[in-house]
Amino acid sequence: MNYPNIQAEDLAVYEIIKREEQRQKEGIELIASENYVSKAVLEAMGSVLTNKYSEGYPGKRYYGGNEIIDQAETLAINRAKELFNAEHVNVQPLSGSPANLAVYMGLLNPGDKVLGFSLDQGGHLSHGHPLNFSGKLYTIIPYFAKKETEIIDMDEVEEIALREKPKMILAGFSAYSRDLDWKRFRIIADKVGAFLFADIAHIAGLIAGKQLENPVPICDVVSTTTHKTLRGPRGAMIMCKEKFASAIDKAVFPGVQGGPHDHINAAKAIAYGEALKPEFAEYSKQVIKNARALASALQNRGYRIVSGGTDNHLMLVDLFGSKQITGKEAEKTLEHVGISINKNMIPFDPRKPMDPSGIRLGTPALTTRGAKEKDMETVADLLDSALIHRTDENNLAEIGHQVKEFSLNFPVPGIE
Ligand SMILES: *Cc1c(COP(=O)(O)O)cnc(C)c1O
Repeated sequence: MNYPNIQAEDLAVYEIIKREEQRQKEGIELIASENYVSKAVLEAMGSVLTNKYSEGYPGKRYYGGNEIIDQAETLAINRAKELFNAEHVNVQPLSGSPANLAVYMGLLNPGDKVLGFSLDQGGHLSHGHPLNFSGKLYTIIPYFAKKETEIIDMDEVEEIALREKPKMILAGFSAYSRDLDWKRFRIIADKVGAFLFADIAHIAGLIAGKQLENPVPICDVVSTTTHKTLRGPRGAMIMCKEKFASAIDKAVFPGVQGGPHDHINAAKAIAYGEALKPEFAEYSKQVIKNARALASALQNRGYRIVSGGTDNHLMLVDLFGSKQITGKEAEKTLEHVGISINKNMIPFDPRKPMDPSGIRLGTPALTTRGAKEKDMETVADLLDSALIHRTDENNLAEIGHQVKEFSLNFPVPGIE
């Protein structure tokens, strides 16, 4: 993509875009929540659809002139329904956190009890962080992974649910590498009369690509971001059973939001169209193969992978436990050589959130650029060398060159 008009009108922003292009092109992206969208998605986000106001829903708007916008939103909705086998879809949520706020508002009253995966073990801020709306407005009861296996213990989830009688059970995560047992969650929710809410922000693309079980037919409500494994624009959507449709739609608008972002909704339609193609199933299969290859390449180099491996696109590495390096130290060292990762708590972490024992790695972005299993060996080597030589500036500079050389083999859509 070229930006001649930005270049002519605003050199400061143009140069920022060019520097970020270079960083993306020359770096190894292992942040599990990031991806590279297609040129078609980029174009839709830059289109004149951004000029429109469309409060309300297709056919029932509070603004005139929406007959064409209605077609874009309806297209996105219909493709999402097909992709996830959903009864009802709302594509208007501006991002994952506001989508979750709308789900809480649509189903609960302030103070109601919600069972969610403990944040320090892989849950998301919007699943009950004390500074987030979820933790401030609702009574959050956490469930945990089992200490020996580092896998969620469904018997314990059932025990807590029977004891606490929550109004809603939330299943979903930002940092957990194992499959969730959706059917067991359903059984538990039914036993205590709770709503079952799945937040599939991280794994939506793997579900759309038919590599993981689809919770949409099993749960009452499902939210997802659209910009992670699903590889669409930054945004979110909510899918639900028909009987919750009106509550969810009212909670999104006028409950939480005003006008939808019509250019983004058109980009969502494009991304869903891409995800319906057979190539996307191939892509999501490769994401998981690459994650498994990276996990075992790291294990072979003496790194302990939390729970012993991965079923999805991400893994947690117990760096402090296996290498006496902290997550913060690793993040800084790896950033220095052009490898992007997150420091992350591991289950039962003896260390603090700002300098935890672990790091989180994911393969969606590198897989979009065309990397395969054998490339994960190279990635593991580069990461390992950087950590080994973390105090040796000359060595780090050389590793930085190798990272750049490796990355330039894999094009990023939209960057020349
Ligand atoms: C990323 C994420 C979100 C929030 O998404 P934002 O778009 O950053 O607000 C919500 N839930 C889960 C599980 C996530 O991983």
